[in-house]
Amino acid sequence: MALTNQDILEIRKDFPILQRQVNGKPLIYFDNAATSQTPQPVIDTIVDYYSNYNANIHRGVHTLSQEATDKYEEARITVQKHFNAAQPYEIILTAGTTHAINLVANGFASILKKGDEVLVSALEHHSNIVPWQILCEKTGAILKVIPQTESGELDLEAFNKAMTPDLKIVFVNHVSNALGTVNPIQYIIDQAHKVGAAVLIDGAQATPHIKPDVQALDADFYVCSAHKICGPTGVGVLYGKEEWLTKLPPYQGGGEMIDQVTFKKTTYAGLPHKFEAGTPNICGGIATAAGLDYMNNIGFDMIAAYEQQLLKYATKELLTIEGLKIYGTSKDKTAVISFNVGSIHPYDIGTILDKLGIAVRTGHHCAQPIMDFYKIPGTVRASFSFYNTKEEIDIFVASLKRAVMMLS
Ligand SMILES: *Cc1c(COP(=O)(O)O)cnc(C)c1O
Repeated sequence: MALTNQDILEIRKDFPILQRQVNGKPLIYFDNAATSQTPQPVIDTIVDYYSNYNANIHRGVHTLSQEATDKYEEARITVQKHFNAAQPYEIILTAGTTHAINLVANGFASILKKGDEVLVSALEHHSNIVPWQILCEKTGAILKVIPQTESGELDLEAFNKAMTPDLKIVFVNHVSNALGTVNPIQYIIDQAHKVGAAVLIDGAQATPHIKPDVQALDADFYVCSAHKICGPTGVGVLYGKEEWLTKLPPYQGGGEMIDQVTFKKTTYAGLPHKFEAGTPNICGGIATAAGLDYMNNIGFDMIAAYEQQLLKYATKELLTIEGLKIYGTSKDKTAVISFNVGSIHPYDIGTILDKLGIAVRTGHHCAQPIMDFYKIPGTVRASFSFYNTKEEIDIFVASLKRAVMMLS
């Protein structure tokens, strides 16, 4: 079974924003790798929360507080089941991928010693580079980099050479946001564990297409953002193995994360509250679960198979344009196409496409090291979701041809 054109038309009706016009043209939204659009059931969940049971959680005896607490903790269980985490308290709701990575990097400051090694990949988003650089400055640990190949894959020979007894943690994305490369994370986790290193997987780009099983992967940490999986902005998920979350110190101090507070000594709450200081994004957490429910209803296998059709079709059509070069040609990639046409600046292409109602991203995609590798300032990136269509790709390719004619 596969998603039919009729299924996609039905799915599109769930996304109010897809009905709107931009600059007098029907919106074609191909910036899904930056953020996904929001289906009606998620919008309804947000409206329902603020209309019916908005209250602070965990401390209240009153009905609204209990309802909000129940829904928030149910959301945590939905997330736990989605990722197949062993325990609900291994799921920390954060403000996003960036926040989740900073939480872990900050915790490792008390674990790493001078001379320890940490390993990042050349394909990372800045948010999976900078927190570790800060950590290395603080601790004297050494940051090493797994290089990339021309096709946008990780150089596994170099990776294998970096497996030393000094290695303490590896952080790598499951899928590259700039190129769409799916990285061999199972292999990376297995090899790193052989030398006793922990592994953090940045799943921000994988989770819109793949349902990860953190126990099967044996990942130590797996992080993602709700706004790329049909949920709201400003919410994210940190999965951490119980033994690691127990070992790491709290990230922020405040309400909700304590057990007992006196001026002599404060003891911390257990998991997950130890890492959820202050009033969380309650509505956001609940809406995150609604987004996952929505996508699971369609089915991640169906979503991935359909998006692969779009990727194949768009790649073939784009390559008919003279001078167009695609960056990231890994065999295993998600529906992301990063490209340039001749020496035309990506920004100019993006601006003309916007005039024609088409949303793509241009620039370095928060992955400057990749752009440096290819010696380019940036790319145009079209990223597809399960609510996009072949017809939209046809309009996109025709519009791009017009833009190229105007600009060359
Ligand atoms: C989007 C993204 C991030 C950052 O996510 P935020 O929601 O902005 O914190 C990190 N890594 C990757 C691979 C991403 O795609």
